[in-house]
Amino acid sequence: MVLAQPAQAQSILRDAETESLLHDMTAPLVTAAGLSPSDVRVVLVNDDSINAFVAGGQIVYVHSGTLQAAKTANEVQGVIAHELGHITGGHVTLAGRGYQEATGITILSMVLGLAAMAAGAGEAGAGLLAAGQQAAVGKYLSFSRQQEASTDAAGVKYLNGAGISGKGYLNFFKTMQQLEYRYGITRKVEYMLSHPVSSERIAAISESLQASPAWNKPLNQDWEERFKRVQAKLDGYLLPPAQALQKYPESNQTIYAHYARAYAYHRGGFPEKADAEADALVQAKPTDPYFLEIKGQILLEAGKPTEALAPLRAATEGSRTNPLIATTFGHALIATEDKANYDEAKKVLRIAVARDDQNPFAWQQLGTVYDRMGDPARAALATAERASMMGDARTAAISAGYAMGGIPQNTPDWIRAQDISMTSQHALEDGKKKRR
Ligand SMILES: [Zn+2]
Repeated sequence: MVLAQPAQAQSILRDAETESLLHDMTAPLVTAAGLSPSDVRVVLVNDDSINAFVAGGQIVYVHSGTLQAAKTANEVQGVIAHELGHITGGHVTLAGRGYQEATGITILSMVLGLAAMAAGAGEAGAGLLAAGQQAAVGKYLSFSRQQEASTDAAGVKYLNGAGISGKGYLNFFKTMQQLEYRYGITRKVEYMLSHPVSSERIAAISESLQASPAWNKPLNQDWEERFKRVQAKLDGYLLPPAQALQKYPESNQTIYAHYARAYAYHRGGFPEKADAEADALVQAKPTDPYFLEIKGQILLEAGKPTEALAPLRAATEGSRTNPLIATTFGHALIATEDKANYDEAKKVLRIAVARDDQNPFAWQQLGTVYDRMGDPARAALATAERASMMGDARTAAISAGYAMGGIPQNTPDWIRAQDISMTSQHALEDGKKKRR
């Protein structure tokens, strides 16, 4: 689990297990919505308030607080089905040149800037907005009553179409409404700001949800089980360690409690206790790639990279080279400072960057291994890739230019360096024009 921090108030949380679960439980809804599961991305925002939103493109943003507060995976599916309705309804189109030109993390950081503003965080997001984007922010902030009604109906359609019970959808809405009655709209329930839930809305969707054959279908046990693990993991990783340990005391010997405590002890600075919790997990499920991942991560971050190799290698293989896990493995291989490990590091990191276009840390690690192996041109190419992903056109242009000088012409890496060089030169020139 890593935080991808684009230096704004909010950050994106990347975790192989959570992303895999969100993908799997969202795919049937995406298909029912007439979209392609490979195009739609669910992005986890590190924020303990309850919210979900779309902000252009086919990306659904879900606050970690939503996952932590939901009672079931089925509730989260309801929330996502609704957000998909905003995408298919075309309710958010962030027009404006700057937005369209931005890619990858840049989009994410801009969008998160918008989110921070919407949340009343004020200044935090303001600096990110170019003048041309102001109009779009209003669009993001509130949908019309009519749009919400049609989106509610779309959510119902997608749940029913996917054969997934709408109980969670209804339940989540009811919970939101109760929270509003009890506390008024607070920061914790931003969802109510973006989607004010009323009794009329609940009544409007109830009938068609209950009429579906899916209504009484039992919950999918695979998703629900994986969801409980993810909830425990998020609690352990995100709650203040003392609070997490209170919620999951030592007397609780379930898998979930071990999982939460492994992270809580790790973050609280108790590496031995964290290691013992990870051992309990691996003992319970010796081939579970995510248990092996946390085992290796704890060892790596405790300064024992060599010991981390076996669990991380097994986690990488067991996850069929999930790019996030492979990146941690590559990092551990490099951290051993043993030349014999560099080839394997290069191999797994190359797979990681090819499969994941949102991971600047993987490019940083790949650059490091090229550098250590005496290939400064490809190290520069990695720097250019990373800078380009982060929206740093200047560094991207300089590094790509350097890379082109050291890589044989017209080979794939050289062509890639040329692409980055040209794209970032254009971005720099555009930036100059705008400032005039
Ligand atoms: Zn909505």
